[in-house]
Amino acid sequence: MFSKKIILLMKKHLTILSLFALISFISCGQSSDRTKSTEMEKKSTVKLESPDYVWDGKKIEKSDEEWKKILTADQYYVTREQGTDRAFNNEFWDNHEDGIYYCVCCGMPLMDSKHKFESGTGWPSFYQPINEKNIAVSTDMEIGYERDEVHCARCGAHLGHVFNDAPDQPTGLRYCMDSSCFIFKKR
Ligand SMILES: [Zn+2]
Repeated sequence: MFSKKIILLMKKHLTILSLFALISFISCGQSSDRTKSTEMEKKSTVKLESPDYVWDGKKIEKSDEEWKKILTADQYYVTREQGTDRAFNNEFWDNHEDGIYYCVCCGMPLMDSKHKFESGTGWPSFYQPINEKNIAVSTDMEIGYERDEVHCARCGAHLGHVFNDAPDQPTGLRYCMDSSCFIFKKR
């Protein structure tokens, strides 16, 4: 009698377990599909300006829906929703190639690898932008204290923050950037 009850209970648990396995299998399938379509979207990137392009003062404005069409989910989250990449788990924190970092939203040159330095933070760090005119800085209070938020001057894409804590660098500044806001092209 008692053991019968246990067997029944085990059967019930097994059913629940296999149900969980099935659900996680389905969701895994979904996430790989999402990655696939994300990769496809990545290929249809914006037109890149020349590396010495200086912003002419004309803004680019698009609706959220329009941005979603040309950006991957991660790119949209960072650039249009002020998101942040994960430290040490993003495309360019450890990139040592010589080249230019362009805005993923509008293709304007933003950073140059010759201004990149090892900050040890896990995010790509630069001591200055490629051109002061191509970026804009405003103050945010997102994590409870004032920070200087950096964005693309032309399209408003959120890029990261700038801190005054790099005394060993020529400007003393650390532009702490998100990889998801960049398209990198070798020189
Ligand atoms: Zn831009």
